[in-house]
Amino acid sequence: MQHTPGRTRPHGFSSMVMKRPHLVVTVCFLAAMALVSGLGLRQLYQMTRNDLHSRQRDLEVRAVGVDALISAERRRLLFLRDYAEHVLASPSQQRAGLQDPVVQAALRDSDKLTWEAPGAMDGPLVLGTNAQGLAGIEGFHRDAATLPADIVLARSISPLVAISQQADAVQSAVAYISANGLYVLSPERPDAPARDLLRRFSTMPYYRLHLFGQNPRRDIVWTPIYTETKKSEAIATLSAPVYANGRFRGAVVMDVAPSRLLALQLASANLTEDEEPAEFGLLNKNGDLVYFVDGKITAQRPASFDPDLLDMARAQAAAWMQRGQGYAQRGGRYLLFQHVGDSHWILLTNTDDSELTLAAARRVFSSPLIVAWLAIAVLLVGTLFIVKNIFGQYVDASSRLETLARSDPLTGLANRRRFLEVFNETLERAAREGGGEAAAPVVAMLMLDIDFFKRVNDRFGHAAGDRVLVIFADILRKNLRSAEMPARVGGEEFAALLPGADLATAAAVAERIRRAVEAHAADSAHAASATGEAQNPDADAIAFTVSIGVAASPADCPAHYEALMSVADRRLYAAKESGRNRVVAEDSRSIDPARA
Ligand code: GH3
Ligand code: MG
Ligand code: MG
Repeated sequence: MQHTPGRTRPHGFSSMVMKRPHLVVTVCFLAAMALVSGLGLRQLYQMTRNDLHSRQRDLEVRAVGVDALISAERRRLLFLRDYAEHVLASPSQQRAGLQDPVVQAALRDSDKLTWEAPGAMDGPLVLGTNAQGLAGIEGFHRDAATLPADIVLARSISPLVAISQQADAVQSAVAYISANGLYVLSPERPDAPARDLLRRFSTMPYYRLHLFGQNPRRDIVWTPIYTETKKSEAIATLSAPVYANGRFRGAVVMDVAPSRLLALQLASANLTEDEEPAEFGLLNKNGDLVYFVDGKITAQRPASFDPDLLDMARAQAAAWMQRGQGYAQRGGRYLLFQHVGDSHWILLTNTDDSELTLAAARRVFSSPLIVAWLAIAVLLVGTLFIVKNIFGQYVDASSRLETLARSDPLTGLANRRRFLEVFNETLERAAREGGGEAAAPVVAMLMLDIDFFKRVNDRFGHAAGDRVLVIFADILRKNLRSAEMPARVGGEEFAALLPGADLATAAAVAERIRRAVEAHAADSAHAASATGEAQNPDADAIAFTVSIGVAASPADCPAHYEALMSVADRRLYAAKESGRNRVVAEDSRSIDPARA
């Protein structure tokens, strides 16, 4: 018997590729898409970081603007302050001023509860009150020794105060306030009694902060804000103390108009293209904070600012000034800071992860990159579709070929080659499951041959003979379990593999098959007699019998294909010898009569 080696079947991944190439390709493409998406997300994350940095740069540019504004205001305020100190310290100016009849008139009037004097060169009025009027107003007191000098100063600074204010935007106010109970204010407020205004000045931080050595370095002080009741608008105030001979003599004050800051905001609004409302905070070294929302100053913390981060900013104001710029982060929210010039200011702005992601996504989707990306995705899906189809056809064709190569086209049973393969696989599996060499695998084999088949061919024709083969194959199928495998191993020779069956079991199966064939023969005989037609009956009605040889391992021989085959063959031969239509499962019984 010719040994046909079982085709060595590929294992693991390569077997997977062979069996389902389209599945493998799909998985690979999905993995590629996942990789591309992963890279995209990474890119997006990178872009949110970039966005954070661009916001930082934006803040830096705005800080330059704020710095320019503050230094401009500062210079103007310092000019007023230096002028005031110069007038107070200059004997020639004092002499000339005191000879002015307007000053002398004012000095005469200065004992009234309310008095006024015209400013020099059509400047705003100088307004004042007497010692009685100053009673109880903290920070002011009448000093006869300095009063004339203060009146001279107030008159001569009056036009400068007006010019300074008119040069600024409309809402701004500029004032010189003397500790001696007189002041010059632009724009003028002649309707308000001097006493009331002085009382208000005295409670305002921009005045109080310079009193009683509270500002020993005589710095310019930026007062957080106060709300102007009329317009209910917050106003930032810059102020500087005026000293003469080491004595505090008053303050110059300048309101920084919101409109100026609005202009600044508008100028810097086109730094970023997004339409988000511009919200900023301005923090001084004392931890005082004001906010700019859409160019308006407000004392109210906008909801978008995280209070905890702002507390952190207040606590670390000095350290942040040192660092210059950076950001603090908490729970996906960011507070960006930027030191304004070399001042004592920190400009703050805020953002959060969702805003950054949105901005980055907007940028991604507005770029041609996304078109390329989508094109690649479409291309991938299209290619996948085509490849899947081609592979699908290839797999179908190859599985059809494989079925053809492994089965008998007439009966649909396994052919000899497939039978050998399954036999070897069964033994391998039995050895694996049996746990090694100790237990020999139990397996049985049947050899089946139709009796006098030549006569069927001769009497009814080859086609009828073929039909009989198909009928016999069906009987085999019906009488075997799924684990047991029938095969057509020759012309009208069949075999069956019974895994796990011992000799007795296999003999019983064989007997069941023989009887089934016999039963078919009985039906056929009946059918044939009913029609009364013996010459050319329906093929289904042809009666036939079968002889079967049975062999089992380990009872008869080792579990080898050829050994089992030869024992079964021998017993089949014995069955033929001893009269056909029978099962032979042992040698002694069959060989003896054959030799007899
Ligand atoms: P025995 O009982 O001794 O087996 O007698 P037999 O006539 O069956 O003898 P043998 O097994 O030698 O006969 C085989 C015959 O089977 C020869 C051939 O004409 C026929 N045969 C083989 N293959 C086919 C086939 O595919 N179709 C048909 N119709 N006949 C086949
Ligand atoms: Mg034969
Ligand atoms: Mg035969």
